Amino acid sequence: MSRASWDDYFMNIAREVATRATCDRKHVGAVIVRDRSILATGYNGSIGGLPHCDEEGHMMEDGHCVRTIHAEANAIIQAARNGVRIDAAGIYVTASPCFGCFKMIANAGLRRIVFGEFYRDQRIFELSQKLGIELVHCPVQA
Ligand SMILES: [Zn+2]
Ligand SMILES: [Zn+2]
Repeated sequence: MSRASWDDYFMNIAREVATRATCDRKHVGAVIVRDRSILATGYNGSIGGLPHCDEEGHMMEDGHCVRTIHAEANAIIQAARNGVRIDAAGIYVTASPCFGCFKMIANAGLRRIVFGEFYRDQRIFELSQKLGIELVHCPVQA
């Protein structure tokens, strides 16, 4: 087996983080990285201290479960809580960001998004180009 590239390495960690997710409609993991160091991680889960989807069922709204805070948001929140500067870092996320998370990523100053599978929102392609955010597809290695 060949040595994993850095992108594969951090994406594999994001996949491991995703196994902690608590909404089984979609398990997503995110890892914020600068200079090959992990600054923060996040997975989609409920507000801390409140029941999870796997305990109380989903909280459906317009066909989506809105109980959880998304993985990307939780990673950014973890950095904020710990006082970790993430400006100009990159984020690895197992599924491409939804529009809400994309906006947060952009304003958090993250400059590179590496995603595993494409999820839902096409606007991120055009907007990342406009904003000069590098967007990289890193699918599971066969
Ligand atoms: Zn749910
Ligand atoms: Zn999201």
